[in-house]
Parts: sequence; structure tokens; C-alpha cells
Amino acid sequence: MTVIDGKQVAAQIRAELKERAAAFEAKYAKKIGLAVVHIGDDPASEVYVRNKVKACAEVGISSSVCRLSSGVSQREAESLVEGLAADGDVHGILVQLPLPAHLDERAILAKIPVKKDVDGFSAENLGRLVRNEEGFAACTPLGVMELLSRYGVPVCGKRAVVIGRSNIVGKPMAALLLNADATVTVCHSRTQNLGEICREADILVSAVGRTGFVTADMVKEGATVIDVGINRENGKLCGDVDFAAVSEKAAFITPVPGGVGPMTVAMLLKNTVTAAERSV
Ligand code: NDP
Repeated sequence: MTVIDGKQVAAQIRAELKERAAAFEAKYAKKIGLAVVHIGDDPASEVYVRNKVKACAEVGISSSVCRLSSGVSQREAESLVEGLAADGDVHGILVQLPLPAHLDERAILAKIPVKKDVDGFSAENLGRLVRNEEGFAACTPLGVMELLSRYGVPVCGKRAVVIGRSNIVGKPMAALLLNADATVTVCHSRTQNLGEICREADILVSAVGRTGFVTADMVKEGATVIDVGINRENGKLCGDVDFAAVSEKAAFITPVPGGVGPMTVAMLLKNTVTAAERSV
């Protein structure tokens, strides 16, 4: 059994991106720019924004955090994004979620041009992904594909089961696996015979958000098990998968923390570098 080391792969990707960012800067005499829109004072968002800024600095991407207070109007929030959309030095825009409840998230995200939507959350980019056209895929599922590829896990022709159908993880995950020629089943809270379906999976991806949800009896011998879940149990971070028991059966497994988590920010950086390269 191999434990997939997301921290190490993410570090390797950052090193590769540093070279691409330096080459861009040398050729076009400007840095690649990412704008992070941070509205309100959600403490978890503070941490996420700080991590993204730090990661940008590490690879030579210039990041700017645009802060608005939690009481900001819909109009003000939208015009901030419109300004960034028109700014030639900004290649990627991300709006840190969740937004304060009074704001219309969909309308604000819709102001990000498709070519700068490096989070890949827009309806247009999700549609392009489903159609297997050029665009930006959501960072977490993209990170899962990168892990599978770098560990040499075959996807073409394999049975993949994704548990979860959110717009930011489950659905794009299923689309990416399908685009890579897997035979994909998507499960959710209304799925019947979940264990039976999961046992057929060569690649099992869990994105549910419940500790200990995937047990060893749901896993086929030799399967690859990817744990996207991030849950807190008595202050400790854990995933959806019963790691100790499932690792006895799996051929490849991601731990939490240190598996999929570090890949999300690495893929945000990758999408930003790609956005800059496509813009010229
Ligand atoms: P959502 O809550 O939006 O989606 C959870 C999904 O799990 C839903 O589709 C839901 O089904 C399904 N589900 C819930 N209960 C069951 C059940 N009993 N049986 C089968 N399916 C079930 O979460 P997200 O997709 O946003 O995130 C999923 C997990 O991934 C969370 O733990 C989150 O913290 C983590 N995450 C990790 C990231 C990372 O960087 N590693 C990034 C993003 C998320 P239904 O649609 O029917 O309700």
C-alpha cells in the first residue's frame, strides 16, 4: 500500500510553477497577478487567504487582497470585481467564500471573466469542463487528478465512484474522471446500496464531510482511495475515510491531513499561471 503524499507533490508543483512564472516575467516584463477578494471577517477565510498569499509569494506570483467590510452592498462588491476584471495586471480573480449572507454570491462570481476564473466555480467554466473544452476546473478535483497522474494510477477504462455531488467538488470530480475515460458513478445522500457500488470502484473518491464514512467493507482490495473530506474531531483534522482499516485493503490512499488538502492551493497557483500564459 502506498500513502499518497500530497504535501510533497504540491511542493514539486510549486517548484515547477516558479519556473513558469519566472519565464513569463522575463518574457513580458511583468509579474503574474492574482487578486483575492475578501469580504467580511470569517476567521477561517482569514487563514485561507493568508495561505494563498504566502503560496503566491513562494512561486513569484504577485497577489493583492481586496478587502471589503461585511456590510458592503451588492453594488460595491460587484463593482470591485468589475474593476479587477478590466485590470490588465490581474490574470486571476478569486472571491473567497463564504460571502456574508445578504450578498448574492452567484451574481458576484458572474462578474469574473471566464478567463480569470481561476477557482473554476463559474457556471461557464463548469459547463466547459462537462463539455471537455478549454477552461478552468475547480482546484480540489483538479488536484486529485494530478495526484492520480503523478502516482501512475491508471484512470482510462477504470471504474470510478465519487461520493458527493457538490458543484465545487463532486460534479467537477466526476467530469474530470469521465474526461480521462473512466467509467464514473456519482453517489449522494439518496443513493441506495452505497456500499455495493463503492466496492466496484477501482478509484473511490469521498467528498462527503463525515468522519469515518468510508469503511473497509466499502472498499475493493487494491483500490485507490482518495479522501477529500476535511472534518474536525475534538480539534483534530480528519477525513471521511477510516484510514487505518482502509489502508489494509487499498493499493493507494490519501491521508488527511497531507493528501488532497495541499493540492488545492497548488492547483489555484497552476490555474493562475495558465491564465496568465493564455492571456498573451
Ligand atoms: P457538500 O456538503 O456541498 O457536499 C457533500 C456531499 O456529500 C453532498 O453531495 C451530499 O449528498 C453527500 N452526502 C452527504 N451525506 C451522504 C450520505 N449519507 N451518503 C452519500 N452521500 C452523502 O460538501 P463539499 O462538496 O463542499 O465538500 C465535501 C467535503 O470535502 C467536506 O468535508 C469539505 O470540507 C471537503 N473539502 C475539502 C477541500 C480540500 O481542499 N481538501 C476543498 C473543498 C471541500 P446530497 O447532494 O444528496 O446532499
